[in-house]
Amino acid sequence: MPTAADLLREVKEQIREVDPREVQDDRSRNGDGSSPVLVDVREQNEYEQGHIPGAVHVSKGFLESRIEGAAPDKSRPVVLYCASGNRSAYAARSLERDLGYENVSSMTGGITLWKDRGYEVEVPRALTAEQRERYSRHVLIPEIGLEGQLKLLDAKVLLLGAGGLGSPIALYLAAAGVGTLGIVDDDVVDLSNLQRQVAHTNERIGVPKVDSAEQAIRDLNPDVEVVKFQTRLDASNIMEIIEGYDVIVDGVDNFPTRYLLNDASVRLRIPVVSASILGFDGQVSVFAPFEGPCYRCLYPTPPPAELAPSCGANGVLGVLPGTMGLLQATEVIKLVVGAGEPLVGRLVLYDALAASFTELKVRRDPDCPVCSRDPESISDEEMGVFPDYEAFCAAAG
Ligand SMILES: [Zn+2]
Repeated sequence: MPTAADLLREVKEQIREVDPREVQDDRSRNGDGSSPVLVDVREQNEYEQGHIPGAVHVSKGFLESRIEGAAPDKSRPVVLYCASGNRSAYAARSLERDLGYENVSSMTGGITLWKDRGYEVEVPRALTAEQRERYSRHVLIPEIGLEGQLKLLDAKVLLLGAGGLGSPIALYLAAAGVGTLGIVDDDVVDLSNLQRQVAHTNERIGVPKVDSAEQAIRDLNPDVEVVKFQTRLDASNIMEIIEGYDVIVDGVDNFPTRYLLNDASVRLRIPVVSASILGFDGQVSVFAPFEGPCYRCLYPTPPPAELAPSCGANGVLGVLPGTMGLLQATEVIKLVVGAGEPLVGRLVLYDALAASFTELKVRRDPDCPVCSRDPESISDEEMGVFPDYEAFCAAAG
């Protein structure tokens, strides 16, 4: 019986080996398509701890099934490497003998020798051990994966309101690992909020909602940085507050702020995930500036007075902001990771009593007073202009 060492020696006699110096010289000479394809055949976790820059990763176990994706041209030279040059020797033999590659070599001494020579190693960004565990169910979904999770951790999402919609959104986006959550709310927690505003607690009645929400987020996920704005959004502060955020989640309950937010977000080209609720009815949409309609394309004038919750206290099913808020949170995650079809140009209506969803197409208005224009031309004075709002609310009684 040949020993493992015999077998390895035999394999190495059948393949070509190259010294790391040769690989390095090749790379510095021609960084174009004529240089060999460099393939790292180690396991995923080894690759993540550091690899040769520009190397493609095809672990040895997947070599047969995946190498053609990484190196489609079988006449182009291929250099394989592993940790020490043994696994890559076996892999080289298999590429040449079984898969028809014409010019395959295995790098002597693997990445260990490469590092000893002081050549460059690239360490890709990775999750910490704790994050790998925390977000494991995300990483397992191909649409999110490691890359998507890193995008979530880098994302800055601004929540307007830490109330009915803002509470579930804050909790789920925090749980999902959105790295920065800005929260704008000038209110304090009231007993009547607790029927639906699940980020707050009995103990925190009387506490500013931004502080209460921050506490809830910290308890859930210390990865999240919370930026608090205990203020009301108005024309004087909106540009300063929203600038730099990747996505804005609109949970505000009044139309003047909605129009103001729309105009400012169009000017800064920030997508807004918007929802509103009343009674048993909710609606949700995504306003992506210049990609789809804006809020003013949808509502050139305020909706009918009876649908204007800001005109006074209105009843709402306590669960409804949860349902709608989580639809918003879902849209935020899709926008951040770039998965699926966002609700751009679509308005989804939810009727909780009927348990039915209705989707309406919304088109951009070519004459929209805001998004039909060059964003730079929208002046501060024009933003949030909302004709007859006082009269409108007065008429609603
Ligand atoms: Zn518009």
